[in-house]
Amino acid sequence: MASSPSDFDPVRSLAAGTYWMPFTANRRVRQNSASRLIASGRGCYYRTPEGATLFDTLSGLWCTPLGHAHPRIVEALKTQAETLDYCTGFQVTNPVTVRLADRIVAMAPDGLDHVFFTNSGSEAVDTALKIALGYHRLRGEGGRFRMIGRERGYHGVGFGGLSVGGIVPNRRMFAAGMLNGVDHLRHTHTPDTAAFSHGQPAAGADLADDLDRLVALHDASTVAAVIVEPVQGSTGVIVPPVGYLRRLRELCTRHGILLIFDEVITGFGRLGAPFAAQRFDVVPDMITFAKAVTNGVVPMGGVLVRSDLYGTFMTGPENAIEFAHGYTYSGHPLAAAVGNAVLDIMEEENLFERVLSLETVLQETVHKLDHAPGVTDVRNIGLAAAIDLQPDSIAPGARGLKLFELGLSHGLLLRCTGDTVSLAPPFVATPQELRAMGETLAGLI
Ligand code: PLP
Repeated sequence: MASSPSDFDPVRSLAAGTYWMPFTANRRVRQNSASRLIASGRGCYYRTPEGATLFDTLSGLWCTPLGHAHPRIVEALKTQAETLDYCTGFQVTNPVTVRLADRIVAMAPDGLDHVFFTNSGSEAVDTALKIALGYHRLRGEGGRFRMIGRERGYHGVGFGGLSVGGIVPNRRMFAAGMLNGVDHLRHTHTPDTAAFSHGQPAAGADLADDLDRLVALHDASTVAAVIVEPVQGSTGVIVPPVGYLRRLRELCTRHGILLIFDEVITGFGRLGAPFAAQRFDVVPDMITFAKAVTNGVVPMGGVLVRSDLYGTFMTGPENAIEFAHGYTYSGHPLAAAVGNAVLDIMEEENLFERVLSLETVLQETVHKLDHAPGVTDVRNIGLAAAIDLQPDSIAPGARGLKLFELGLSHGLLLRCTGDTVSLAPPFVATPQELRAMGETLAGLI
């Protein structure tokens, strides 16, 4: 029997466990349910039902760089809901979605001229993997079926993304459902030579040569694509060594393998450029994006695709569907209207430049922790940073969880993955807010 809204007690209901929360220690939440509710959000802060404020240290889940309840986004959403709240994206579409595709292409590296919309990063990754398979098959190279990901990579939770991903606890339970023929490059986190790096580590470009080793093992004629996050986000901001991505590009080109940058986190300004591809001056064959494209307000993802890949599909009878793929909500008009508003705000407020100036502040702030007891590494690039804590030898992850819980009672909503805390504050945060975040954190570690 449904309770009326006035009877409803979310603390009790959450404790009862009807809502099975994603990527969450659910039993821990059920014991502490009163501390796990967020009532509202404005700018860089959340407010709890008790009225406490929490600084949003990770821009939502890397997705709200413009902060919460931005009036122009709220307005765009309202206007679009009154104008066209939904229309199918199959065989017809609508002007706001087409406009957003045009604008994303205009921001992208030259040659990535087509956008396929999805609803999430996971769907964007699976879409890109399918485009890679389709592209090779259409060119008569259907033997190229292998995908190469990277250790510690995160590409979402669909079976495609999970298979190329490299975060072991995410994969362990689902090994039986993985794609065939996936292999992984080594990750580039090398604390022996690169601990406490500011920006890109100088050494480690040669780790890209792993691709040559895998090609020698499997033969290039069986490999469809390599997918990497230019900066590995979810595992804790692992920054590519100088020259690493360029080397990967060269090897992919040499072996006829497609290179996919998963920019679900790095896309739309997190590194002070539209995409990481521009920051690192390396152009992949496809870019996956999601999150910040709509400031997290309405779910949306997508894939930017190189012209000749798209062209390869645009063959055969004109009445035929060229790519038998898509989602009920692909190119959703509400998401697209919000996406257009997000790009307006980013452009008008020069937010990518702002990220570059805040990068220095965040770098200074986090590296003050370099010598803190129990801190084993600190890394940063763009408006993103991570701090590794020495794990408890008996209970790995317990320090991270404790820090997260301490944050809740000290005004910070933190993101801890295992014993690593990642920081990716909103682009609209001030230098003072970044420093205050660092000081509070230093007191909790
Ligand atoms: N790819 C990357 C690089 C991500 O960081 C994420 C999410 O954090 C995803 C894919 C999956 O996105 P979603 O959670 O929207 O499915």
